Amino acid sequence: MIDTSKVYNSVIIGSGPAGYTAGIYLGRAGFKPLLLTGSLLPGGELTETTLVENYPGFPEGIQGPDLMENMKAQAEKFDVQLESEDAEGIEDGENGCKIVKTHLGNIMAKTVVVATGSTHRKLDIPGEKEYAGLGVSYCATCDGFFFRNKKIAVIGGGDSALTDALFLTRFSDCVYLIHRRDTFRSRGVLPQRVQECPKIKIEYNSLPVEVLGDGEKVTGIKLKDKESGNERELQVDAIFVDIGSVPQTGFLGNYLELDPAGYILTKDSSSLTSKPAVFAAGDCADPVYRQAVTAAGSGCKAAIDAQRYLLN
Ligand code: NAP
Repeated sequence: MIDTSKVYNSVIIGSGPAGYTAGIYLGRAGFKPLLLTGSLLPGGELTETTLVENYPGFPEGIQGPDLMENMKAQAEKFDVQLESEDAEGIEDGENGCKIVKTHLGNIMAKTVVVATGSTHRKLDIPGEKEYAGLGVSYCATCDGFFFRNKKIAVIGGGDSALTDALFLTRFSDCVYLIHRRDTFRSRGVLPQRVQECPKIKIEYNSLPVEVLGDGEKVTGIKLKDKESGNERELQVDAIFVDIGSVPQTGFLGNYLELDPAGYILTKDSSSLTSKPAVFAAGDCADPVYRQAVTAAGSGCKAAIDAQRYLLN
């Protein structure tokens, strides 16, 4: 239970690799941190992925949800208090104390680690909102099963889109991979795997312009050829939108300095933000790398920075 009368050494906001790693370090150092996991997606975006092949220590790969369960168990082992709450804002309190606002009340802390990650970017085209949950999905792991033997479109050209297109061939023999350019952003082994997969049809230079439906469910997608400007329709039953992410920093308002895209600005290569005693880690402060392992590494940095602040 959250104790709103006590001052916590550290409140960590977010339960992705950054948040859990910060928790493991601060917990292991004896600071008994409180970690707000968030109410919607505890464990963060990795709980929505399938096989993670590039997190060191797992030569055969590990399923994203299993990786997050392991991190959670490790945090609990080191006395991290986990609460499924959302932070609604941060304010400065008295005597350097920070106040984390939640719907249960204000939580007081000597230090705060913001590790709120990022959320799915939307296409912002007609029909997307209307058919969200009726064929438009942002999570192949969660929803792929519902479209067994159906025609599926995956939008995007990054690692997420290519990983999901391959994953969705477990359910469908007809997966369109729709990318707005003629080369993938994704590098490494994935482009070759999708190009060689007979179940995947790649539609290059194709801009999604409208989600089509019959009022109850998705029936297709309208695409515009980037070069000719011609529009065409593809009949599909599901559209998986995999076009990157935006940082979850809206709840901060103007409390911390952010870059124009909303990422938290940190000082030099540390986790220090524009406010003393408030540290940032993971995707919410990283417009560049955005990997599970870099998020975990930055969670470690934030914990060490917070620990130094607490010991001074
Ligand atoms: P990303 O790398 O930012 O790629 C987003 C893709 O969506 C790009 O191809 C982009 O096109 C396209 N896009 C963006 N806005 C669009 C729009 N409005 N309409 C159509 N297409 C649009 O995002 P991500 O794939 O989610 O990956 C995020 C990070 O996670 C990356 O660092 C990635 O390496 C990492 N990741 C790693 C793995 C793995 O290693 N297993 C798996 C998933 C993600 P352009 O190319 O034209 O910009």
